[in-house]
Parts: sequence; structure tokens; C-alpha cells
Amino acid sequence: MAGNPRVGVLALQGDVREHLRALERLEAVAVPVRRPDELASVAGLVLPGGESTVIDKLARSFGLHEPIRQAIAAGLPVYGTCAGLILLADRILDAAAGQRSFGGLDVTVQRNAFGSQLDSFETELSVSGWEPPPVRAVFIRAPIVVDVAGDVQVLATLADGRIVAVQKGSVLGTSFHPEVTGDLRFHRLLLDLIQERAAAHDAVHAHQ
Ligand code: GLN
Repeated sequence: MAGNPRVGVLALQGDVREHLRALERLEAVAVPVRRPDELASVAGLVLPGGESTVIDKLARSFGLHEPIRQAIAAGLPVYGTCAGLILLADRILDAAAGQRSFGGLDVTVQRNAFGSQLDSFETELSVSGWEPPPVRAVFIRAPIVVDVAGDVQVLATLADGRIVAVQKGSVLGTSFHPEVTGDLRFHRLLLDLIQERAAAHDAVHAHQ
């Protein structure tokens, strides 16, 4: 891929700025995405934390639902944090009436899974295959993954075994928010997935 990758952050609601900053720190060209033509210009996309019901409604009214769904289905690398993970899940428990997701991860997520007594907390997690230090994970009214199917890989669990980070091909999702802690490893992984996709694309074209 020529130059630094252009990576979008869906900028309808939520912690958009933190993700833009994390991507910029990794020298990506980070762009807010609010329109289909902006989506078409990026090589990867972040779905931020926020409120999945609001992001879902706004995505539909901005004409972005179908383009995002199709882009993910066609292999656009994407990373969802918290509400973003909910937006990637094929199935949602405790969804609001009529709530939809873009899909892409063959998982069931449960919204607000920690209940009102434990709205927010932080813990350390080790991620499968990663060197120490562990990830400092911040959970804010977070979902958990209650069921994975197909070739979804579990990247991290809480000490009690509940699943909080998953990957399927170039689709990544975490229940927690690395964009607020300064640990850039998940964003780096997204950039690696973008790089791999570009290299595969170049290889196909070189043979034509
Ligand atoms: N509870 C929110 C939802 O259901 C997610 C919270 C978050 O992104 N921090 O969308």
C-alpha cells in the first residue's frame, strides 16, 4: 500500500476523538466518517464506544447502514469497541426494540452485561498470543460475548471465563476501550489487518 493507510472512525456518536487520536499516534490518516463517500475513501473502519442504539439509528438515517454492512461483508477491516462490538455482532441480547447491527461477527453479545451495580470497572487482561504487559481494560456499561460460532477466535476473557475480545478474519471487537488507556496494540492490529488486505489485493492484481 502506498503511504500511510486512511482509516475511518464512524463519527455519529460516542468516543470518536479518542479513536482518531489513537490512529494518528500510529501514523494512520484518521478520518471521521459520516457519509457514504467518506466510507468509500477508507481502507479500514473503527466503530467507537458510545450508545449502540443511537449509533444504529443515526447510521440508518445518514444512509450508512447498508454501505457499512456491505463493506464489512466484503472484507473491510473493522474494529469495534464496546458499542462498536455490539454493532458488529450478528445477534444481540437485551437489544432495544428494532435495534439492528451491521453484523460481521458470528457471535451473540449481551448489552449492559455487568448490570447497574458494576457499571464501570478496570482490570488487566492477557490477550491470546500477545507478549506482556497485559492490557489494562476499561469497561463502561459494557457488553460481553455470550456465544461464539463459526471461525470466530476468542482473544481475551475475564478471569471467570467471560469473553471480552474476539476476532474473525479482519473483524475485531472488544468489550472494553483501549482508546482511553493509551495502549495502542488493538489499533495496531487493525492497521496490520489493513496492510495484509492491501498486500493480498496487490498480489492478485500483479497476476492479472
Ligand atoms: N451500553 C452501551 C450500548 O449498549 C455501550 C457502552 C459503551 O460503548 N461504553 O450501546
